[in-house]
Amino acid sequence: MSELHKFLFEGLPVRGMLVRLTDGWQEVLARRGKSGDAYPAPVRSLLGEMAAAGVLMQGNLQFDGALILQVYGDGPVKLAVAEVQHDLAFRVTAKVVGEVPETARLEALLNVHGQGRCAITLDPKDKRPGQQPYQGVVALHGDRREPLQQLSEVLEHYMLQSEQLDTRLILAADDTLAAGLLIQRLPVQGAGNLQGAARNEDLIGLDESYNRLALLAGTLTREELLTLDADTILRRLFWEEPLRRFVPRRAESGPRFACSCSRVRVGSMLKSLGREEIDGIVVEQGRVEIGCEFCGLKYHFDPVDVGELFTPVRDQPPGSSATH
Ligand SMILES: [Zn+2]
Repeated sequence: MSELHKFLFEGLPVRGMLVRLTDGWQEVLARRGKSGDAYPAPVRSLLGEMAAAGVLMQGNLQFDGALILQVYGDGPVKLAVAEVQHDLAFRVTAKVVGEVPETARLEALLNVHGQGRCAITLDPKDKRPGQQPYQGVVALHGDRREPLQQLSEVLEHYMLQSEQLDTRLILAADDTLAAGLLIQRLPVQGAGNLQGAARNEDLIGLDESYNRLALLAGTLTREELLTLDADTILRRLFWEEPLRRFVPRRAESGPRFACSCSRVRVGSMLKSLGREEIDGIVVEQGRVEIGCEFCGLKYHFDPVDVGELFTPVRDQPPGSSATH
């Protein structure tokens, strides 16, 4: 069962989270495999890490809307996306063009010519009119322009830049499990009222308890993260620390795979392309088929459906709409 564990360290300005995606992650891969379009191994690994990271970030922010983690670039992977809702429902997808080397890491996947970027978007559930989603973007290289090879490094960089928070992130994924551990220095409360010295950015790298805990977290190997259960991992890493754990989020209240696609949404997307375009496809192929790139579900619109799509609702005979 997939699970998200939250914890803090009593009396220390540090919090943490551990996520393990099992059934939901396996479902993502199974759906993709079924559609005969399985991702190459390095892409599976990247997407698993993105799903785990997305759940950690959403679990941290508890943002009322979608957290969308995107990496796009100039290698064989054009785009990889992980989307996590407020209730921790997640979905992922990637667009891959061309050969992916067996041992490819971040640079070879997405940052061959240094153009790769990572974007984090917070899309509120109930947007006010004209309200734009918040988006932060970082490059896939470090401060000395060295290309980063791991998603975790990119996200640590992002947290530092956008939130002024020290963060240690360890991510790993194979075909049965996508997992992650996050350790973060807590933001200074009411920073505006304190003297300048206590501002978040001035504390970067200086909090001794955070540094010690981050160092401990950093000893966790990828293999341990993928093979040990949450209790064992936390005990091994932090047995000497004042660890306080919260009730884990599991099952319906935990992270799980779910896709928010629907026939209505696909319909409005087709409408936005315009009647001429859609009629052209119907003439050529007899109907329009749209597959959801997240869950693999196929939506079909035959000539009658297309006709209805472009007929204003009030002109339709009673009972003829929205029944497909
Ligand atoms: Zn879908």
